[in-house]
Amino acid sequence: MTLLPPPPLRVGLTGGIGSGKSTVARLLASQGAFIVDTDAIARRLTQPGGSAMHALHAAFGDSVIRPDGGLDRQQMRHLVFADVRHRHQLEAILHPMIAQEAQRDAMAGRESPVTVCDVPLLVESGYWLDLVHRVLVVDCSESTQIARVMHRSGWTADEVQAVIDAQATRKQRLSKAHDVLLNDGIDEAELAQRVTALWRSWMALVSPTV
Ligand code: ADP
Repeated sequence: MTLLPPPPLRVGLTGGIGSGKSTVARLLASQGAFIVDTDAIARRLTQPGGSAMHALHAAFGDSVIRPDGGLDRQQMRHLVFADVRHRHQLEAILHPMIAQEAQRDAMAGRESPVTVCDVPLLVESGYWLDLVHRVLVVDCSESTQIARVMHRSGWTADEVQAVIDAQATRKQRLSKAHDVLLNDGIDEAELAQRVTALWRSWMALVSPTV
């Protein structure tokens, strides 16, 4: 008789812009986690011919469609920042599609003991909370977020602040967390050590010693 392996632990990884989510996802992947990247899925769905484009065109009109038929992300961002109803409308279209694709992508990682779904807006959308077993929040101060994104992406402080203001607060995010990685005042080597410790705690959960 073959025993089926237990399903992978499904972890939702989230954090504010610049908190270090992508860095943590990479570190978890090097430990053996299978990563489902919802940003990449969103880009796939909104590329020319992507499955979300018909619904997005119907909802928002020609102005959000690039000449090549893909989503004009900058124009979409303008609309969403101008009116919260547009944000809700966009999320209502995209989130269920992203979740469906994420579940499909996750099938490829079923041999891995942990599947990590990288979901920047996990707390904001609420949609994901029922789909994961644990929530991992990468946390840092706003001033650190701003400094990192200015350095990484060349944005102004005001541009980063506008995104921070549109995201969940630290408190809201932390209230949903089962695990927290404080990524502030430490270098990437120290972050890697914290990720290793977290990984060990997950391994103890998925294969407890009897
Ligand atoms: P997010 O995916 O949450 O937006 P990233 O992982 O891209 O954040 O991190 C933002 C930037 O900060 C990147 O350039 C990354 O290399 C850097 N960074 C993240 N954590 C640290 C750290 N502990 N020490 C130094 N730089 C860091």
